[in-house]
Amino acid sequence: MSALAVVHVVNGRQKKLVHGHPWVYGNEIERVEGAPQDGALVRVVDFRGRALGVGVYNSRSLITVRLLTHRDEEVTDGMIAERVRQACAYRRPVLAREGTDCCRLIYGEADRLPGVICDRFGGVLVLQILSLGMERYTDVIAHALIECERPDCLLLQNDDPIRLKEGLPLFTRALLGEIPDPALIHENGVTLRVDLLGGQKTGYFLDQKANHLFLRPFCPGARVLDCFSYSGGFALNAALGSAREVTAVDVSEAAVALIRENARLNGVAIDAVCANCFDFLREQVRRGERYDVVVLDPPAFAKSHASMESACRGYKEIALSAMRLLPAGGVLATHSCSYHMPEDVFVSTVFSAASDLHRQLRVITLRRQDIDHPALAGYPESHYLKSLWLQMLD
Ligand code: SAH
Repeated sequence: MSALAVVHVVNGRQKKLVHGHPWVYGNEIERVEGAPQDGALVRVVDFRGRALGVGVYNSRSLITVRLLTHRDEEVTDGMIAERVRQACAYRRPVLAREGTDCCRLIYGEADRLPGVICDRFGGVLVLQILSLGMERYTDVIAHALIECERPDCLLLQNDDPIRLKEGLPLFTRALLGEIPDPALIHENGVTLRVDLLGGQKTGYFLDQKANHLFLRPFCPGARVLDCFSYSGGFALNAALGSAREVTAVDVSEAAVALIRENARLNGVAIDAVCANCFDFLREQVRRGERYDVVVLDPPAFAKSHASMESACRGYKEIALSAMRLLPAGGVLATHSCSYHMPEDVFVSTVFSAASDLHRQLRVITLRRQDIDHPALAGYPESHYLKSLWLQMLD
């Protein structure tokens, strides 16, 4: 322990760490005692020299230290392996859901494995290491995952451009077994094909599992529109929930092909449309179309705090169109997956669309990402998904 370099945090900046935040930015560092190499473990102390924890150091990243522990303790390979075992154990209730063989097994900071993501897709584990400090634990993490989960295949998908900011190379490699083609997963009894190599995120949006299922009871007999559908998670649940008619829209041709294949795999009819949802929604309004249920799940409009205003305009525009398509009694499920969009701002933006239209609505519920993506207390960045369910009253 005593051999570790010591990072002294600027007075005042220790508070967020004390409250559980795991990052120290470069401009929060007063001085560094010793000459830590990038990727090395360092002790972090406050301005009085009191211990704040131990983390990994990277001078090339804006996030200069990522804490692995908020205690003054030795960080060992055994500790990292134990974190992986705890992460897998926490997901048991998710994998115990009927007809479910997919979930996020490791969610970075919330599992106290900063910058590490692992998703389970049936017998395939997809692992991503996004921080230099964790790169050297790749083997430890991979072994612990194989021991806990006994997968057929472990894919190291280190192709996220975020790695470049950490000074890490981009590559993808199977550490165990072979990548199945096609790769099929099951989510609450729905069969889905995931595109492990060319897909978005690690292949599928696992954070929406519980929200997909939540849609079903609103759908019997309904005409449902799923905008920004990707591989059809909401649309499939609507169809399996006895919707009268389901339309799914995405701008990506690859996504639309996935929706069609997933509809076939589940023996349901979905009208899959390749279009820009902004245009599609406007056109539906122009034609006077009506839907009983509309789902909006766009990509992150707010990529940074600076783009919040234009993001609000985007959320409002699609909410306005969706509300115009919904008669009294109609249900809108609208989402924001951007951490930079605070929950209250998102909610008031959507509400303002209703007041512009002189429509009254009520909130059915405000949900979040599924429980395999838990949020770490003191680290608001780990709560990103807002899922707002509304009913039009008039
Ligand atoms: N609802 C999906 C996840 C959606 S991710 C699920 O539950 O799994 C966002 C999707 O929006 C991506 O598939 C992306 O291709 C699509 N997209 C992005 N911009 C779009 C636009 N302007 N019009 C339509 N689709 C868009």
